[in-house]
Amino acid sequence: MSAPFRIGIRGRLFWAFGAVAVATIVATVVAWVSFNRLGDTLELIVGRNVPAVTLAAQLAERGGGIIGTAPALSSAKDDAERERIWMQLSARLQDMNAELDAMAKGGANNEVLANFNEAVTALSVNLKKLDALVSQRLARSARKEELIERLRWSSADFLDEIEPMIDDSRFNIDLALTRDGSSIKTPGRLNQEMVKQRSLFKINADGSLLAELIGRAANIPNIDALRGTELYFREIESRIDTSIQAIEAVPGALSLRQSIKDIQVFANGPQGVFALRALELNDLESERDLLIKNQALLDPLHTLITQRVDEEIAAALRSAERSQASIRQGRLWLILAVFVSLVVAIPFVWLYVGRGLVGRITRLDESMRAIADGDLGADVPVGGEDEIAKMAESLRTFRDTLTDTQAELVQAAKLAALGQLTAGISHEINQPLAAIRHYARNTTLLIEKGCKAEAKENLDKIDELLEKTNRITGSLRDLARKPKRDLRRTDVVSVLDDVLTLLERRVVEHNVEVNIQIDETCRFVLAGQVRLEQVVLNLVNNAIDAMENISARRLIISAHSTDGWIELRVRDTGSGMDDHHLAQVFDPFFTTKDVGEGLGLGLSVSYNIIKDFGGIMRVESRIGTGTTFWVRLKPAPEV
Ligand code: ADP
Repeated sequence: MSAPFRIGIRGRLFWAFGAVAVATIVATVVAWVSFNRLGDTLELIVGRNVPAVTLAAQLAERGGGIIGTAPALSSAKDDAERERIWMQLSARLQDMNAELDAMAKGGANNEVLANFNEAVTALSVNLKKLDALVSQRLARSARKEELIERLRWSSADFLDEIEPMIDDSRFNIDLALTRDGSSIKTPGRLNQEMVKQRSLFKINADGSLLAELIGRAANIPNIDALRGTELYFREIESRIDTSIQAIEAVPGALSLRQSIKDIQVFANGPQGVFALRALELNDLESERDLLIKNQALLDPLHTLITQRVDEEIAAALRSAERSQASIRQGRLWLILAVFVSLVVAIPFVWLYVGRGLVGRITRLDESMRAIADGDLGADVPVGGEDEIAKMAESLRTFRDTLTDTQAELVQAAKLAALGQLTAGISHEINQPLAAIRHYARNTTLLIEKGCKAEAKENLDKIDELLEKTNRITGSLRDLARKPKRDLRRTDVVSVLDDVLTLLERRVVEHNVEVNIQIDETCRFVLAGQVRLEQVVLNLVNNAIDAMENISARRLIISAHSTDGWIELRVRDTGSGMDDHHLAQVFDPFFTTKDVGEGLGLGLSVSYNIIKDFGGIMRVESRIGTGTTFWVRLKPAPEV
């Protein structure tokens, strides 16, 4: 028949810890996977989504900056200002291109990048066009300013021409009027002069008007007004032409015409103020268009940026959701792993370790303590088939062996005590017997001689000696009697009397001073007379032995009442013991005496006897000072 498969404590512990370890490993792996996923997500968000959103935001900011700055380019006062603003714009364009490169490196979608590139390129082209236009317009404006400057000189020349002619004409008219009515004589000439003067006035006014119209045209705000001004200018031109024709014969008319032509030059041809202003207005219009287009170009860029930001945010949210899901899943697994650990660990620790192992070990420990304290009837719980059960079995075997051994020991000690007693008693009895024999012989002789009084004296002595012998044999009887289990009211004084009677010879021989102090209230204890005598006999014998080589030999036996106990104290002034001896003094067979003199059983047997009485026995000793044995016993109830 094959042996049944058994799992010992080691196996059970192995399986339980194995299960908890597996649950812990599962929990660790789950936590590791969750953290890894979370880490990946964070890396994605921090490494890709956040930079992408940041780049897009920067791109949007640059775009906004460009749109904000571009009108400043258009309203630049001069080339230097235009140049400065253009530098700013190009720097922003460069930044935008750099951000696009960064986006490409950051792994942005190709299509999105292509759209961004297209938008930024279109913006760049537009801005370049705007710059070219502004540059061209500023050049035209400079040219126009120059023309206007020169126009002022030509106007001055015209005035220089016409004003003397008007003065002449005024003079001629004045002259004609002041010369004795010559005007009356020559009214045609005066009229002629007046007509000429009127023409000159007209030419003067129209010439100035021409110059003024050119000047006004230079800054006219819109093309329609410019066209109207030009038409008016042409009208004045033809009017002034007519006026000049009217004074053609007048000296200076030619140079006057020339000075008017000099003014007209500024208004005519593709380099004239009208043409330049028209081109300038056209440029401004184109610039406005370009600025609007800029804005329009930025709109898709913004849309793209918003789209891109939305995409990245959505991607980040998706990643976060994914990792949240994995954390949720991980949490569930962790809870499961912890639950499994608890399910395994709690019953194991509570039931198996706590109640099973620890409970059984505690019970075993209690049994061990009881056995160690001498309770050989202590129960040893044996159960199960594991290591503790084996220990319990061993303990039970040990207890049984100990019980047998103790019984043997008690027996051996009894025999030893009996032997010792027998030797002492035979000595005690032999001595009175010899004396009795001696007195008996003497008595016979005295009776034969008729000395009755002496014979009676001898018979009294024989009676005394017989009484002593009787006492000794009485003690022997008591000691030899089988000790009874039941405890009785025992008189300590009587016990001491018996013991000291038995040991009287030793006490006298060893010259020991015995001092007994028994308080009347501490006389009666719960014990067995014979067994208590056995204990005291042993203590006194040991004390006498210990004082063998000491000069001052005192034995003090006292009884006191303490903490509800009666304490019997046996103190000697013997050699004392060191700690090493003290620790073994109650061990069976511990003796320091020579072979044949001591068995080393007296104290161990005494100890057990006192325990049987429900009392306690202990010892204190110091080398050179002496030894004290305390025997605590329960007081006997009053009768
Ligand atoms: P035994 O007397 O046969 O040796 P015991 O058990 O009575 O056995 O005593 C054990 C030992 O204890 C003694 O051998 C002795 O060394 C020591 N002992 C006992 N009582 C005293 C004492 N009063 N003073 C010094 N030593 C003692």
